[in-house]
Amino acid sequence: MKRATSQRLGESNRLLVLNHLRRRAVASMHDLIRDTGRSQPTVLKWLAALERAGLVQRRGFGASSGGRPPTLYEFDATAGHVLGVAVEIPSVTVSLLDLNGRTVASEHGAIHSMGPPEVVQHELQAAIRRFLERQGAGRSLVYAGLAVSGFIDRDAGLSLATPRLRDWRDVPVRADLERLLGCPVVLNHHIDALTLAELHVGAAREVADFLFFDFGYGLGVRAVRAGQPLIGRFGNAGLVGHTTVVPDGRLCLCGNRGCLEAYVSGRALLRHARVDDPGPDEDRVIARTVARLLDDGADEADRRAREELERFLSIGLANAINTFEQPMVVLSGFANAGGPGFRDRLLEQTRALLQPTLAGATRLVFSRLPRADAAAQGAALYALSHHLPFADPLVVPEPAERSPHLAKSDATANEPPRQATHAPR
Ligand SMILES: [Zn+2]
Repeated sequence: MKRATSQRLGESNRLLVLNHLRRRAVASMHDLIRDTGRSQPTVLKWLAALERAGLVQRRGFGASSGGRPPTLYEFDATAGHVLGVAVEIPSVTVSLLDLNGRTVASEHGAIHSMGPPEVVQHELQAAIRRFLERQGAGRSLVYAGLAVSGFIDRDAGLSLATPRLRDWRDVPVRADLERLLGCPVVLNHHIDALTLAELHVGAAREVADFLFFDFGYGLGVRAVRAGQPLIGRFGNAGLVGHTTVVPDGRLCLCGNRGCLEAYVSGRALLRHARVDDPGPDEDRVIARTVARLLDDGADEADRRAREELERFLSIGLANAINTFEQPMVVLSGFANAGGPGFRDRLLEQTRALLQPTLAGATRLVFSRLPRADAAAQGAALYALSHHLPFADPLVVPEPAERSPHLAKSDATANEPPRQATHAPR
C-alpha cells in the first residue's frame, strides 16, 4: 500500500518536471525548482530519469551569474510520436503528431469495401501500415487514438454500430489496432475527436466551456465543461440527433420516428438529391445536394426544403443551447456550407428560440478547421493526453531564441519547427 502511494507520488513528480520543461522548451535546474516548487534532489532525480528515458537532452550551458554556468535541459518532442486515426466510413484520415502535439504528417484515404467487418478492418489496417512505412514511424509510436463514428463502448474498446456498414456489430477495434501497432490505443467517438481539435487548435482554443454542434452525415453534439467533453457512460451522451422533434414523424436510422437527425443530417437530405441510388458516390451527392439547397437562388422545391432544414436546424441548436447553457457554440460540417444569407437566418431563428437570458449571452461561431484532419488530430491529442496525463496535450513552447537562458553559441536552437506534410487526397 505504502509502496503504491510512493510510486504514484514519484510518477506525478516525474510528470510535473516533464511538463514544466515542455512548456519552457529549454530550462535550467533552477528554473524547474522554481516552476515546480520541488526540492533540488527531487528535480535532479527526475531529470536524470527522464534523460535515461530519452525524453530530455542536455542543451549546452546558460548564461553564468557569477559561478559555474548552469546546464540547460530540453524536452525532446521527437523522442516518440502519437498516431491519430479517424474513421468516418468511407473516409479515413491518419495523422502523426510529435510529443508537443504538433502534426508531423497527415494523410487521407478511403475504405472501398462495405462488406464484412474483417474485410473493412483489413483495408483500414493496410492503410495505416502504408502510412507508417512511408513516415518510417512504426517504432517511435508511444500511443495511438482511434476515433470512429456511430455507437461505441469506450471502456470495452468496441465499435458497437457504425453508419453505412450493416454487418458491423460489437467490433473490437481497439484490441485489433493495438495488435497492429504494438502500443496502447484509446478509443474515442468521432465527435469527441472533432471537439478536442476545436478545443486545442480551433475556434474554442481560448475558452474552456463550449458546445460543439456538428451537422455532417449524421448529427453530433458535445458539451465541453472545464476543458472536458461530457461523454456519458458509454461515450454517447449529447447525441441530440436522436431526440424526438416530430411525434410520429419520419423514420430514423435508429428505428424511432421523428428524430432530429431524420430532418437535419446529410443522410436525411439525400431525399432531395434527385438521384435514384448514389451508391459509393454518396458523400459527393450529399455535398452537392446541400450546396444546392443552401444556395439562395434555388428553385421553389429547394426553397421549401431549405426552409424546413433551417427550421429544424435552429430548433436542434436552440434545444442543445437551452439544455447545456454554454457561453459559446461552434458549428461545424454542412452548417459551414451555406452563404451569408443562410448563416444570418440560422442565427436569427436560433436566437428567437433561446431562453431570454441566453439569447444575448451566447456566441455562435463557425468552425474553420478542415474536418477530416481535425478529427485525426483530435484523436491523436486524446492519445497524447493519456501518454502525458495532467498536461496540456498541445504545447507550443516559447521560441528558443527568446529563452533568456540560452547561451548564444547554441545555434541549433533557431531551427524552424518541422512543417506538416499532406499527401494528396
Ligand atoms: Zn433516431
